[in-house]
Amino acid sequence: MKTCRTVSELKNAISERRSLGSVGFVPTMGALHAGHASLIERCRAENATVVASVFVNPTQFNDKNDLKNYPRTEEADAALLESKGCDIVFMPSVEEVYPEPDTRVFDFGTIGAVMEGAHRPGHFNGVAQVVSRLFDFVNPDKAYFGEKDFQQIAIIKSMCKQLGLTLEIVECPIVREADGLAMSSRNTLLSPEQRAAAPVIHMTLAASVARKEWADVEETKKWVKEQIDSNNMLKVEYYDIVDSLTLCSVDSWEHDGSIYGCIAVQVGDVRLIDNIRYK
Ligand code: AMP
Repeated sequence: MKTCRTVSELKNAISERRSLGSVGFVPTMGALHAGHASLIERCRAENATVVASVFVNPTQFNDKNDLKNYPRTEEADAALLESKGCDIVFMPSVEEVYPEPDTRVFDFGTIGAVMEGAHRPGHFNGVAQVVSRLFDFVNPDKAYFGEKDFQQIAIIKSMCKQLGLTLEIVECPIVREADGLAMSSRNTLLSPEQRAAAPVIHMTLAASVARKEWADVEETKKWVKEQIDSNNMLKVEYYDIVDSLTLCSVDSWEHDGSIYGCIAVQVGDVRLIDNIRYK
């Protein structure tokens, strides 16, 4: 595996391999776990060249402490990527990615305004800034994203449309711990007590699916919030049940189209997100 620190190293390394076939790309912020590994494995199976990036993007953090505390495990990340058959990893400095401040402002309409968009102002603009730059550097045929960040996938697809990018966005299922907690780099920041409480999030979402048979959407939202909030380690920031494409709230299970429940929960200082498919 080749490690590139600069954009020109990265571009050279990719151009040497482009004639081999398709280039697949997995952008990450590091502190890699089995969720990231699943994206690399899928990318490996579907492309001649696998490129990953490890970059904690400052422009997508609306909370300075979150940026400061974000786990950084560069050596372990490189070892995991290499073991999964990654060909090229891009580990740049902030100055390399942003030689000038990025002042672009994206407009994603409703999909950027609800849920994470409403609670993390500027977050998706920062995501679009960094992912569009990385796509420009790598020029991948396919890029791989996890469904844990459900709304992010909608944002990336919209960004590609707006910028006229034709690469394929591949959506990969959520990888969970044995107790159901969605894997996340932020899980390492939980205290043992918080870690023990956190599986309640997925357990509750999973249990709520059966309630479709007798409870309506509003009752189900209320029930999920109450169940989770009844644990004193957990505080629901939002729980919404939405159309999978528009991300608008639905008011009935009869809604035409696929329905997901999306949640953000504050666990002490750590903010976790998860989602579940209702239909
Ligand atoms: P991050 O490093 O958190 O920015 O995540 C990089 C990519 O890995 C994103 O596309 C995430 O959606 C994906 N990812 C993170 N956690 C998981 C997980 N538990 N299962 C599947 N994909 C994940």
